[in-house]
Amino acid sequence: MKTKNIITKTQIPAADFAANPYLGCIHGCIYCYAEFMKRFRNIEGEWGKNVVCKEFDRVNTKSLTNKTIILSSVTDPYQPIERKMRLTRKILTNFIGKPISVEILTKSKFVLDDIDLFKKLNSIRIGLSLNCADDKIREKIEPRASSVSDRLETLKLLRKEKFNLYAFISPLFPFISDYENVIEKIAPYTDEIGFENLNLRGAFRKRVYDFYAEFYPQYADALKSIYSDKGYFRIYWDNVKAKIIKACKERKIKYKIFFYHDEIMAQKRTRG
Ligand code: SF4
Repeated sequence: MKTKNIITKTQIPAADFAANPYLGCIHGCIYCYAEFMKRFRNIEGEWGKNVVCKEFDRVNTKSLTNKTIILSSVTDPYQPIERKMRLTRKILTNFIGKPISVEILTKSKFVLDDIDLFKKLNSIRIGLSLNCADDKIREKIEPRASSVSDRLETLKLLRKEKFNLYAFISPLFPFISDYENVIEKIAPYTDEIGFENLNLRGAFRKRVYDFYAEFYPQYADALKSIYSDKGYFRIYWDNVKAKIIKACKERKIKYKIFFYHDEIMAQKRTRG
């Protein structure tokens, strides 16, 4: 697919721009926020099972001076096809020696393939995303992403290389995500942990409800209550937030919590 400009502005709080080398993502997460892309682009087949490679000749880095660019916002830059196509690598190569801050966010161990390149960039921060410490849960929620143990090993290896690292525990699934276990496991390997809760405004709401009905029927009604009652939503997540803060403080680890998306987006708009 021919793409004129691989760099786009983003509303993501941590970045100014985003680059998405692929359309679609084979990881197949049941909560995939990126599925809305299907409406704008003519993507055939089931979301999560197809990937389209973007074709681009050059990367225009003009507007990126002293800005932060994230790879990626609506795809995973290190999903398996990257090993063959190297489009993420092609984009990153353009940033060598330039005053650009690069932020990587992935669920894949293949991020390790580009360690040599990361070392040539002016500024890089690498985030590993995971939402549970139990691979049996991970297999159901993120079927084709790297296993929990592979992601932990990846963090460990990146830590050894002394990169600026963070873990992103996202999205937290009510009653299921064993976030205190995850914090315990990743604390030795990361400088900071971000936390984001499950956002059910997308087309995947039904998919998540069906998932609970099939695998966690004991929580299915409570989940619906959380997402249909604003007051209960606040109470539930404030309670989780308090536990997270306690666990992070005990381990002296920095944390950022992204639970109330409307407020976060409003803050970003105010900052401009
Ligand atoms: S890794 Fe990200 S883009 Fe890929 S399927 Fe999962 S949520 Fe969607």
